Amino acid sequence: MTTLVWLRRDLRLADHPALSAAAAEGPVVPVFVLDPETEAMGAASRWRLEAALAAFGEALAARGSRLILRRGPAAETLLALAQECGARAVRWTRAYAPAWVARDKAAKAALKAAGLAAESHPGFLLHEPWTIRTGAGEPYKVFAPFWRAMAGRAVADPLPAPDLRPPEVWPASDRLSDWGLGAAMNRGAAAVARHAVVGEAAARARLDGFLDRIDRYATDRDRPDLPGCSGLSENLTWGEIAPAAVWRAAERARQEVGKGAETFLKELAWREFAWSLLWFWPDMDRRNWRSEWDAFPWRGDNPEAERWRRGLTGEPMVDAGMRQMFVTGTMHNRVRMLTASYLAKHLLTDWRVGLAWFEDCLIDWDPASNALGWQWTAGSGPDSAPFFRVFSPAAQAGRFDPEGAYRRRFVAGFEGSREAEALAFFEAAPRSWGLSPEDPLPEPVIPHAAGRARALAAYADLRAGGEGG
Ligand code: FAD
Repeated sequence: MTTLVWLRRDLRLADHPALSAAAAEGPVVPVFVLDPETEAMGAASRWRLEAALAAFGEALAARGSRLILRRGPAAETLLALAQECGARAVRWTRAYAPAWVARDKAAKAALKAAGLAAESHPGFLLHEPWTIRTGAGEPYKVFAPFWRAMAGRAVADPLPAPDLRPPEVWPASDRLSDWGLGAAMNRGAAAVARHAVVGEAAARARLDGFLDRIDRYATDRDRPDLPGCSGLSENLTWGEIAPAAVWRAAERARQEVGKGAETFLKELAWREFAWSLLWFWPDMDRRNWRSEWDAFPWRGDNPEAERWRRGLTGEPMVDAGMRQMFVTGTMHNRVRMLTASYLAKHLLTDWRVGLAWFEDCLIDWDPASNALGWQWTAGSGPDSAPFFRVFSPAAQAGRFDPEGAYRRRFVAGFEGSREAEALAFFEAAPRSWGLSPEDPLPEPVIPHAAGRARALAAYADLRAGGEGG
């Protein structure tokens, strides 16, 4: 029996329950459908997806299989393809964002109505979000008990890459280059391409390299000037490595090195926590999780937010983060928190303005982690950083980039820097921004003390309003 495997954010061969189940049934036709939900993604995500599809297509070809590419609404496209290849079943890895859940439900109903078997499998997360609840059956709103609930649970056993029997006749496929997925990245693509680590083999190698330094993770992970983190978020986002594979490797390392690996396992649990929250609060990426924040006087988009986007706030640590994102497609977690805090607090700008820019620029964009990161930082989310704790960019730089290496790496002119990535920013930034490495460093948009005072005054008003009624 021929089975279609509908691939999405699971572009790997190993630890892939849907692919393995299909392979056990007979010939397999792997297919990626460029549906409207996927086309709606940001520029960097679409570019990174193109790279991931190219790598996955090559990996399949090396095993005598192929990746069939089709464009159109998922349900109709899958039905038509199943008819073309005489497939009797469609399998896929479950997705959990609301728009994707709706798409998948509609596809399942249409396939079943046409008499096909349609089955979804786990694999994107360590645990299904609905399985981790409090004793009272409620979702967790605080990370610490969530972590305690999941820490001891077994994750999926390893699954080797299956042998994939080809169908007798391959159906036609679109050409990836005809989709133009990378087009909206413009000049940024050339810079980001030097940093992206694409495909299953590269993701595995990245994990292996990280395991050699996982013992230092607990101390180095907060330092954007050091290679302290794994960098695996882009691979987890596109499913080039299974979270269970990362978890199992870190769990083994924990036996040897203890704390570093334990801290890393906890970070993987934050990814699960984010997806649990989005699952139970599906508007978490659009609405304040705490509704009292609806009364906060967030500003909508504004010229200062535009300076933030362009890495021109005049705070070198903030600008380094914004430029890192433009040049590499990712940003260090510590600096994500700082840049997000700066927008939401110093610039009093609605966190959704920042969320949208991250969504457009990150090659590891993940709707759940992005929403949790923004709401956590802005103060409107579950288990959030308290709003009154307003990061000082200079103090953060002193603590986490003590020698200035990170700022020199990404901000041309900072301490006279002419480093390659600092200059690459000017190659990558749109010409319409009119930026030159010869420009003097900008003055701060707002002095830290004034920004902090303005943020705290707005917060005091919110509290007073809440208390008053
Ligand atoms: P490591 O430190 O090596 O951690 C290992 C893995 O744990 C990561 O790959 C990631 O899957 C997970 N993880 C680590 N920290 C977090 C966290 N705080 N929340 C959720 N998962 C975490 N992460 C994304 O993957 N996509 C996003 O779009 C995203 N947007 C964010 C926006 C903001 C405002 C903030 C504050 C954080 C955001 N994060 C996002 C979380 C975090 O910054 C990244 O996961 C991390 O920087 C990725 O680098 P790494 O793979 O080297 O992480």
